[in-house]
Formats: sequence, C-alpha cells, structure tokens
Amino acid sequence: MRKPVTDLIHHPYSPPARFAAPQPGVYKASTVFFDDVAAMRARDWKTKAGYTYGLHGTPTTFTLEERLASLEGGTECLLVPSGLAAIGLVSFALLKHGDEVLIPDNAYGPNKALASGELANFGISHRFYDAMNPGDLAAKLSDRTKLVWLEAAGSVTMEFPDLPALVGHCRARGVITALDDTWGAGLAFAPFDLQGSGQGVDVTIHALTKYPSGGGDVLMGSVVTRDDRLHRLLKLTHMRMGFGVGAGDAETLLRSLPSMALRYQAHDGSARDLARWLQTRPEIEQVLHPALEGSPGHANWLRLCGATDLAAGLFSVVFDSRFGSEQVDRFCDSLALFRLGYSWGGPISLVVPYDIALMRDASVAQWPHKGTLVRFSIGLEDVDDLRADLAQAFDAL
Ligand SMILES: *Cc1c(COP(=O)(O)O)cnc(C)c1O
Repeated sequence: MRKPVTDLIHHPYSPPARFAAPQPGVYKASTVFFDDVAAMRARDWKTKAGYTYGLHGTPTTFTLEERLASLEGGTECLLVPSGLAAIGLVSFALLKHGDEVLIPDNAYGPNKALASGELANFGISHRFYDAMNPGDLAAKLSDRTKLVWLEAAGSVTMEFPDLPALVGHCRARGVITALDDTWGAGLAFAPFDLQGSGQGVDVTIHALTKYPSGGGDVLMGSVVTRDDRLHRLLKLTHMRMGFGVGAGDAETLLRSLPSMALRYQAHDGSARDLARWLQTRPEIEQVLHPALEGSPGHANWLRLCGATDLAAGLFSVVFDSRFGSEQVDRFCDSLALFRLGYSWGGPISLVVPYDIALMRDASVAQWPHKGTLVRFSIGLEDVDDLRADLAQAFDAL
C-alpha cells in the first residue's frame, strides 16, 4: 500500500472525460454544456459521474476533492470557501431544531461563536466540554446530542486530547463525531483509523488555508467522510447553501499539495527547535507544544502521533506573570521577522498574544496560568535567524 503522501503526487484518480465548458485548461465554469435535453434531465449533480453546474463540481475541483479525501484516509470530500465554512457546513447539515452539539472549550473560537450565534438562532443548543477530560464529555452526552466536535491539538492552548477515548464515548452512544483536522493536516495521524484501530471519527474538516495552501494567499476548506450516508447529507446542504470554490484557488492548491508533507516537516522541525530553546528562557513559565514533554496531553500525542513523530509548526508560550500584558505586547512589537497576523501554515512566521481567560468558559475548566500567552506559527525562514529575532525581543523586554 502506498502512503497517502505519495498518492498526492502519483494519484490514481482521473476525472471523467468529455467536460465541455466556456473556458478550457483549468476548468473555470458556472455554465456546463449538455449534449441534449435528455442528457440535461438525466444528469445527477450528487455524484462525480458527470457535470451539471460549476457550483457542483468541475474536473479541477473533483480532482482536488479526490486528493484531499485520500490525504485524510476518507472516501468523499467537499470543498468550501474557508475552513470556517467547512465547520458551518457540518453543523448545518447534521443538526436541526431541538438538537444539541458538544464543542471542546479549547476549540477554534469561531466554531464556538457559530454555536452561540446562528445555531442558537435555529433552536440548536450547545455545551462546551473539557477536551482533556473524557469523563466530562461522557457526562454531557444526552439523547439530544447529535454531533460532537473534536480538535487535536486544541486551538491556541495546544492541549492534545485522548481522541480514541473521546470518540469511543460518542460511538457507544451512536453520536456523530467531527474532527477539526487542520493541525494534523492528514499527516500527523490518521483520523479515520486512530492508532491503527480501524476506527476513527465520522467527519473531518480541514482549513486548507493553512498547510495545504502554504502560501498565506488562499482561503478554502474541506469536509471529508468515509460514510456514503453522511456524505449525501453534507452534499445536499453544500448544494443548498451554494458553497462553491473558485477554480483559480483550486488550481493553487493542486500546485501546493505535492510539497505539503515536506513543508510540514520543515515547519515542525524549526518549531520544535525553537520551542525547546524557549523552555530554557527565564522569561517563559511554560511552553505549550504537544510533542514536548511536560505539555498538556503530551502522552496522548505520543500514542497518536508517535508513529509519524509529526506535529505542526505551531506552539504557544506563557510568559512569567512578572511581565504585564503591555510588556508582552512590546515583546511582540519588537519582533522583526515574526509578523503580527492571524492564520498559520505560510512561509512567514507569525505571532499573536492572547488573553485566554476571556476565551474560556470558567465552568468547564479553570485556566491555570496568570501570565500572558503568545502563540507562534513558525514559517520557513532559517531557524537561527528566527532564534536571533526572539533573543533580541527578549533583550528589549
Ligand atoms: C484557521 C482555522 C480554521 C478556519 O479556517 P479559515 O479558512 O481561516 O476559515 C478552522 N480551524 C482551525 C483549527 C484553524 O486553525
């Protein structure tokens, strides 16, 4: 069996022939031509057997979908205009009035905001659970729970949960699980086959904006399943909501995907190097990086990702509380190579200070640190230059 990484480059899929559209080459199309009315009436937009309309797929988007499904070990993929749109698609497709969704308290913030905004407006309730305490999730599952979100590692605070245990509780209750797999990117672990068990999550979403794009220049998301019934539900909602993506963006991703595994390893190597160095700095109370001993959930990371020994190029540090938030802001402002900006996975290293207390639901679990947290996304610059940049910003503190 070839590895998915190889299949990204030598992929067996070729799209169906006879695509006819106003633009040749990279297929840019809203309109797709039919040979006759009978063919028009017979065409099914729900499968990849043919083409109906640009929104429902072109040779370009079908090809990208197949590669991304392989990457994460699924069978079906849908493309949407952003990672957040992928989260929205899953929640809108699988939840209805009266249902409840459970979300980790350390999840990607806009997922929580969508739940307290639109989902609440539609009569769908939500609760936050402690991702580091599978018992808390088990206690919060009820007959109304129809979807459980998972994320490994947690956003910003980087705790690595016991995914097999969380998934196990949901399976036992017949509840669908959806993993935000942006951190693992389909490379660090196999979300549909956790620890080689043959079992895993039901759905993954991936912010292709991050490592698959790799350029900091494309917004896109994917939703992958290996369950036909779930895929059909998602595809229906995808069609009704008009979640198409641009051919130019799909083309950029098809160009970036073959180098993703190499880039991911490079980001990871530099990040671990810098994270270990930051552990030795007296200004830093704790480094939060799941591949480093002493970080929350390190043992879970080791069990799930030990075989690949991979982690994303992302980590956070908590400053010693003798440094006030204004001083930490100044530290961030003094960095020259690290730029202030959201997102990650591109060539340029990024830094963002966060006030975690404002992001957490105090009733779920107490955030144990007093100092300010700063998240680093490590780019592709030379690691010694990045270390020198951090050192001069510490000197300026
Ligand atoms: C960035 C990100 C998203 C959202 O992706 P966008 O394309 O920016 O909407 C979702 N989940 C995680 C974990 C992310 O880091």
